Amino acid sequence: MSELVFVGTSDAFGAGGRRQSAMVLRARHGTALLDCGTTTCTGLSALGISRSEIDSIVVSHFHADHFGGIPTFLLAAIYQDQRRHLLRIAGPRGVESRVRAAAAALGHSFEDRQFPFPLSFHEMPAGADHEVGPLRVRTFETKHQLDSSPHGLCVQAGPKRLAFSGDTGWFEGLPVQVRGADLFVCECTLLTPQFEYHLSLEELTQQRGTFDCGRMILTHLGESMVTQRGNCGFETADDGLVVKL
Ligand SMILES: [Zn+2]
Ligand SMILES: [Zn+2]
Repeated sequence: MSELVFVGTSDAFGAGGRRQSAMVLRARHGTALLDCGTTTCTGLSALGISRSEIDSIVVSHFHADHFGGIPTFLLAAIYQDQRRHLLRIAGPRGVESRVRAAAAALGHSFEDRQFPFPLSFHEMPAGADHEVGPLRVRTFETKHQLDSSPHGLCVQAGPKRLAFSGDTGWFEGLPVQVRGADLFVCECTLLTPQFEYHLSLEELTQQRGTFDCGRMILTHLGESMVTQRGNCGFETADDGLVVKL
């Protein structure tokens, strides 16, 4: 059986004292981190999850609250964890250069650093199936700031399928992309529609009947959504929530 651990469930700004986007997917043949916001090392530590358990980091897009934690993760893997086994980093086109540039900007350039473990980068253009170690990942484009290469993810973990919206506003194709998922983790930053690049509870309530999937859990909760937790007609994620798949 697979399980999903919510490491961070806030919007970009840490609403409600929550951590930024990150989920640990434990599947039969390995463990993947889905998104790695800047607070991810703190979250893993708080939940007692070892960084060394992570085989792959799969990011939805290049906003700091979704990939900004990778430089620190890599630095810790070298100096704290004495990591020796392969780490895969997968994301939209340009993932390697984005990670290298972010690390350099944050003062931890990897250009002259030797990694004592194998590190591989995998680009996952939209609309195709990609092998990331034992996981099969299909990506799809979402409605979000274009310069962040916004994508959602459909991850096949054994017999179960997990869909993740990444960050997105409402678009007609979203229900089609996540159709048939056993679990759909959907962003819901806002209570009412205020911004075209994020979803709101009002829109998801209106569109609920169009989602043909199993369990649906809302995450990426902004300030107005945190107060609706447990009282909005949908399941909502909290930091540390564990879901069996
Ligand atoms: Zn975000
Ligand atoms: Zn974003």
